Amino acid sequence: MDLFDKIKKAEYLQEARIAIDQGIYPFFLPLEETEGTEVIINGRRLIMLGSNNYLGLTTHPKVKEAAIKAIKEYGTSCTGSRFMNGTLKLHKELEEKLAEFLHKEAALVFSTGYQTNLGTISALIGKGDIAITDKEDHASIIDGCRLSQGEMRRFKHNDMEDLEKVLASCPDNAGKLVIVDGVFSMAGDIAPLPEIVKLCEKYGARLMVDDAHSIGVLGDHGRGTANHFGLEDKVDIIMGTFSKSFASLGGFIAGDEEVIFYIQHTARSFIFSASMSPANTAAALAALEVMQEEPERIDHLWKIANRMREGLKSLGFDIGNSCTPIIPIYIRDRWKTIYMWKELFDLGVYCNPVLPPGVPPNQSLLRTSYMATHTEEQIDRALEIFEKAGKKVGII
Ligand code: PMP
Repeated sequence: MDLFDKIKKAEYLQEARIAIDQGIYPFFLPLEETEGTEVIINGRRLIMLGSNNYLGLTTHPKVKEAAIKAIKEYGTSCTGSRFMNGTLKLHKELEEKLAEFLHKEAALVFSTGYQTNLGTISALIGKGDIAITDKEDHASIIDGCRLSQGEMRRFKHNDMEDLEKVLASCPDNAGKLVIVDGVFSMAGDIAPLPEIVKLCEKYGARLMVDDAHSIGVLGDHGRGTANHFGLEDKVDIIMGTFSKSFASLGGFIAGDEEVIFYIQHTARSFIFSASMSPANTAAALAALEVMQEEPERIDHLWKIANRMREGLKSLGFDIGNSCTPIIPIYIRDRWKTIYMWKELFDLGVYCNPVLPPGVPPNQSLLRTSYMATHTEEQIDRALEIFEKAGKKVGII
């Protein structure tokens, strides 16, 4: 059999070709210009409701300046692993400041958030250990578990009875790590950490929280989900990325010094990959400073997200259990989701369709997300567009 036969047979690729032919293919669209909340695509200006730039810092003068200065001082790349020639003073400074910010003993930065989960989880879960994950955890968590020598067991999304069932089914002598997203990247709901912590304590499991969408969004000055619930000392490992609120690229973990030291010496995606670039590291450092200096950004982000959430709900859209600046619109039917996306696009709103195989077949949705730099006028304009498009496609 020819290895490439499966490419011709893949149904979702055939559907992608149909969408391309019909001019309604929603992926890989190049942005010609972006100023954060508005972008130019195909020569047309659109309100951006699909970015993870929660604090709007990709265009903050201090963050841009820091990246430029780092290139001038260190050049464009570290051209090596952190283990070898790839560690800069900037990386150490970022790790120290992050640990301080998150009230943990130590932190370690990776080149992407994806690599952070991949390396950390596969290093921690050895033979006989069990990773216990929420069914809506991010793909990088699942891939980290798959790469490990241990086992993965999954519980129903945010379902504490099911988590307890899974924990109770694990042998006492297995090392156990519960891994959840703090804010779930598609549903925009929050993990119930107080209950999760109680169950972890009852069954002797360690807890890791992926705060990719929570840092800069939840908690005091954006310290994340554990801080939001007053549980910083109960979460063993806080993971985050620099590709969202930090307006950069990279990822990190924070925890006890002993654990961080272990991961630093065992995580293969950390050891066998070049380190964060000077510009990315300096941008993340500057963003961390802005987070602490300008907390009003977080207040405005919530004001904008709450206005949109209420608006979408009162128009009759199904937004599930969202309670954060990530607001999904569940349409469930794949083609209707694409038609709605195209209608919004033509009327001046950009958002992200999420389709199978990325989600289960009946879960197709449009993912919208908000920024501290959105104006109330942009939100009102977007709501008008959602109403028009929703009625035309027959969703509301
Ligand atoms: N965790 C979660 C919850 C995410 O949403 C993402 C990215 N969307 C990642 C990890 C990976 O981060 P990065 O994009 O920085 O690789």
